[in-house]
Amino acid sequence: MSDLVLFWHRRDLRITDNIGLATARQHSSKVVGVFCLDPNILERDDVAPVRVTYMIGSLQELQQRYVQAGSQLLILRGDPVQAIPHLAEALNAKAVFWNWDVEPYSQTRDRAIIATLKDKGIQCLTHNWDQILHSPDEIRSGSNTPYTVYTPFWKNWSSKPKAKPVETLHNVEGLTEAEQELAQKAGVKALPTAKDLGFFWDADLIIAPGEAAAQAKLAEFTAKAITEYQEQRNFPGVNGTSQLSAALKFGVIGIRTVWQTTLEALENSRSEETTTSIRTWQQELAWREFYQHAMYNFPELADGAYRATFKNFPWETNEEHFQAWCEGKTGYPIVDAAMRQMNESGWMHNRCRMIVASFLTKDLLINPQWGEKYFMQKLIDGDLSANNGGWQWSASSGMDPKPLRIFNPASQSQKFDPDAEYIRQWVPELRSMDTEYLVTGKITPLERHAVGYVKPIVDHQKQQQLFKQRYQQQKAIG
Ligand code: FAD
Repeated sequence: MSDLVLFWHRRDLRITDNIGLATARQHSSKVVGVFCLDPNILERDDVAPVRVTYMIGSLQELQQRYVQAGSQLLILRGDPVQAIPHLAEALNAKAVFWNWDVEPYSQTRDRAIIATLKDKGIQCLTHNWDQILHSPDEIRSGSNTPYTVYTPFWKNWSSKPKAKPVETLHNVEGLTEAEQELAQKAGVKALPTAKDLGFFWDADLIIAPGEAAAQAKLAEFTAKAITEYQEQRNFPGVNGTSQLSAALKFGVIGIRTVWQTTLEALENSRSEETTTSIRTWQQELAWREFYQHAMYNFPELADGAYRATFKNFPWETNEEHFQAWCEGKTGYPIVDAAMRQMNESGWMHNRCRMIVASFLTKDLLINPQWGEKYFMQKLIDGDLSANNGGWQWSASSGMDPKPLRIFNPASQSQKFDPDAEYIRQWVPELRSMDTEYLVTGKITPLERHAVGYVKPIVDHQKQQQLFKQRYQQQKAIG
């Protein structure tokens, strides 16, 4: 009989193209999966019910996949620092394997677990970079420092050969009945529902959970939309992006599989426009990786501004303005449509994420950390690195060298929602209004009153001047 190896799933809820899992399989034919519902994460105040619902749905499918492969996925609930070594010891496991993660919490937790497992004489193999195509140590500048600017990062990153998808878990042994009893005594439980955990989400999910749905979504996107991505990706009223972000956040699809699909699409491309579109989508995947590398190399990003000018910025603390922004009641149609899309569906189009983040920080002058947290409370794809990267970029507090980028809600609407389709979809009280009013935002008080739409909470022109002034003052202080 083979030695038991436990594979601990975290942000890799799949058996296909999973580096750590494939490595575990090379070490033993008896591989059992484990997932730990961690109160240090689930009891934070920035967890979105929609995200937990997606995660639990993906775990349900993962359990079925383990059974099909001949084994089991065990569910624990508790602090993994105790729960994982305790289970491994109870089952007399020879080793515990997992994939490494860039987030600061994850690394502190993992180091504690490695120490405990070592004390117990249980091996662990953890340094697999599974969720990114290149490790942060591999992509360094000429002077061997991490990149802080995207373009040179992309040049280096895209020039490197990428690994192919790895083998799917199959034909493994699971726990015997006696071992299953031991597992239960060691804390293994049935998979709860999101509701059991206190998270309520009754609307449909924007992407169905699980590997099969993510693979189908990738196939659907690469069959057509990827070829028009360059043209369509900025229009929130058009279904022009992949909507794979939740699957990528939870590792429900492997990044090597995704990359391989883009290479096949490039091979089949018959026009320059198509090739450009596919390359543009590849660049978005590289943005994801850029932010993960940044979080790994500069973990202090998680705690606030990267740039000195913004470390003590005199942000406003106007709770009423913040609440209006959260609820989509700012009186700026495109901002309100976007916030309502996120509140109602758990997802927001990238163009709109940039617009509302600019509005919160440059028009309302509110600390980007407030917005970052609110996004985490609402997004199905809420992810520390990508969300923090997006907020730091929008607030100009991050690595990006263009500090005074300010989005004008009216010109953004005119360019990217010219027929106001998106605005009408998410702000029903504005449906009957002329497009011209909606995209310019020039709605008279009388018309606002007639449809019951709020008046603008601030004046964009005045606020951007105020922001610039404060920025110059802060810069002078140094
Ligand atoms: P596509 O356009 O199809 O892109 C493919 C994949 O590339 C995405 O699924 C995502 O994994 C990655 N990607 C694309 N754009 C970016 C980007 N700018 N930064 C990092 N990765 C990117 N993305 C998240 O996954 N989680 C977040 O919490 C998150 N918060 C954001 C907050 C702000 C303020 C901003 C401006 C952006 C944020 N993004 C976040 C990035 C981006 O908006 C989403 O990844 C994208 O909208 C998801 O839709 P999609 O899957 O259809 O993307």
